[in-house]
Amino acid sequence: MNVPPKIKHFIWRACRNAIASKCNIKHRLKIGNDECPRCGEDSESLEHILFFCPFAQAVWKASDFSYCPERIGFPGFCQWWSKLCLLASKGEFGDGISFISFICWHLWKARNAFVFTGVDSDPSLSWLLAHDAFMEFYKINILEPSRLYQENGHNQQCTPTPPDCIKINCDASFINFSSSAAGAAVFRDSHGKIVKVVSKSFRAFSASMAEALAVRMGDTFAFRCGFPNIIVESDNIGLISRLKTKSFSAWDSALIEADIINLATGFSSVSFSHVSRLCNRQADWVARSTRVENYPVDWVSAMPRDFVSHCNCLSL
Ligand SMILES: [Zn+2]
Repeated sequence: MNVPPKIKHFIWRACRNAIASKCNIKHRLKIGNDECPRCGEDSESLEHILFFCPFAQAVWKASDFSYCPERIGFPGFCQWWSKLCLLASKGEFGDGISFISFICWHLWKARNAFVFTGVDSDPSLSWLLAHDAFMEFYKINILEPSRLYQENGHNQQCTPTPPDCIKINCDASFINFSSSAAGAAVFRDSHGKIVKVVSKSFRAFSASMAEALAVRMGDTFAFRCGFPNIIVESDNIGLISRLKTKSFSAWDSALIEADIINLATGFSSVSFSHVSRLCNRQADWVARSTRVENYPVDWVSAMPRDFVSHCNCLSL
């Protein structure tokens, strides 16, 4: 398992049920009550913090794993973890086990922030923080430096937009079993102000196809709006890398990616950049919301109130 020592230590303690949950404190010291301070629905065991508290459920649901832990029949953290380790040892899980340990760690961190400082974070923000922390660790510790340079380009940070340029953050939401997908593009001017948001539901055969459709939608709207210089940002490393090198091999997205390059000839300048999920969080939110609630195609003139409050909530 490739994770920082502090996370390894946390998992080790969790497997021994040595985490200072309210349940454990009450059981061992015979003091206090063990009610979950966040939801008040159950006693605060380790499993409640990591899986069954509504906050944890929302984080897992928002994650790439779309995981819904079931309370009935749940074997306890240690056995659950052993099962994951078994899958990982068979090579069926890639780096998933490391990724999952980052999520568990961030759930624990969010619980402590809530208990000790009263900070009640957004589940989608906790998921994005876990995702970006994992990606950062993965790139630095696992990918070779040369590949890292090619994939990251210069734009790992949330960079400002140059004058006379529009930055378009694109993202897609995709559900594998139903092929239902949605794309979103958030347009910002050089002051960072959102000047346009477009989103659309569509069908896709894969996540990479959905991501390509989202970028094409953003480019098409930028062209219609007459923006001459654009920077297109996506958190999909593969897509950005293919657009930069113009090598389209995936059967499901090659034509769409070629179309994006054709569209690029209609602008004075176009650049494609990879950004972290955190920097792409608003486009991610719009795409997810559009898939679920079918937002209108173009709503810059009347942004839904929940999008505005989401932007305020997530502004770091
Ligand atoms: Zn709870």
